[in-house]
Amino acid sequence: MSKGYEVREQLVFLLQLQQSDVKVRELESAVTQLPAKLDPLRRDLAKLQGMLDAERAKLTETETWRKSQQDQIDREREALKQAQNKLQASKNSKEFGAASREVENKRKSITDRETELKKVVEATSTSTNQLESRNKDVDGLRTELANGEAAMADQISALQAQLTEAKVTRDAARSQVEKQWLKIYDTLSQKRGYAVAPVVKGVCQGCHMALPPQLNNILARMESIETCPRCSRLVYRKELLDVPAAAPAVPASEPATEVAKSDEQS
Ligand SMILES: [Zn+2]
Repeated sequence: MSKGYEVREQLVFLLQLQQSDVKVRELESAVTQLPAKLDPLRRDLAKLQGMLDAERAKLTETETWRKSQQDQIDREREALKQAQNKLQASKNSKEFGAASREVENKRKSITDRETELKKVVEATSTSTNQLESRNKDVDGLRTELANGEAAMADQISALQAQLTEAKVTRDAARSQVEKQWLKIYDTLSQKRGYAVAPVVKGVCQGCHMALPPQLNNILARMESIETCPRCSRLVYRKELLDVPAAAPAVPASEPATEVAKSDEQS
């Protein structure tokens, strides 16, 4: 009799261990994967920032060019003045002709350069406006990312708290499982993903093989922990552990949380 009780107890602890192992794994992967959720936003931001930097560099280059053109216009104005002086000082028609041609050339050159410069200044003002609006976009994204990161930090610390709790539950379950089963449990978990499988209507739910009827009968007695002949998982008859009526049979060493839950319900 007491043997059956221990078997049930061990199976319950093994299942608790399995459940909390699943939970620990889930939480661990959530904690690892969460930061990657902001990667698309980070990529968008980096791309926009790159475009913005390029545009800014181009604008700086244009500004340098504009200044050099302006300097040149100033120099040409100076040259025009000299040409005009020459024109006034011309003593004969030959000198006058040459000087007036020079004045004309200088004037044309200045006008051409100013026209060109005006176009560039207009284009620059358009790019400056675009740059400002893009800069706003980048700022918006940066704020979005910062908010996202703050929210994520909260999420991660909440998950980590859950993880710590899940690990405590898991360690508690582990400490209750006898060494021989623990060893088998660990080997099977590693090899098969999980170690304990229920049997429903004579079929192992771990590998979906129908157990030999004899083994199914042995499981019904709950006097020993058996393994599935095909997948080697530790098996138990689902109906024997799932029924709520099994509650009175649950040993007193059940974790306190379970007891607290049933107290709340009553
Ligand atoms: Zn199996």
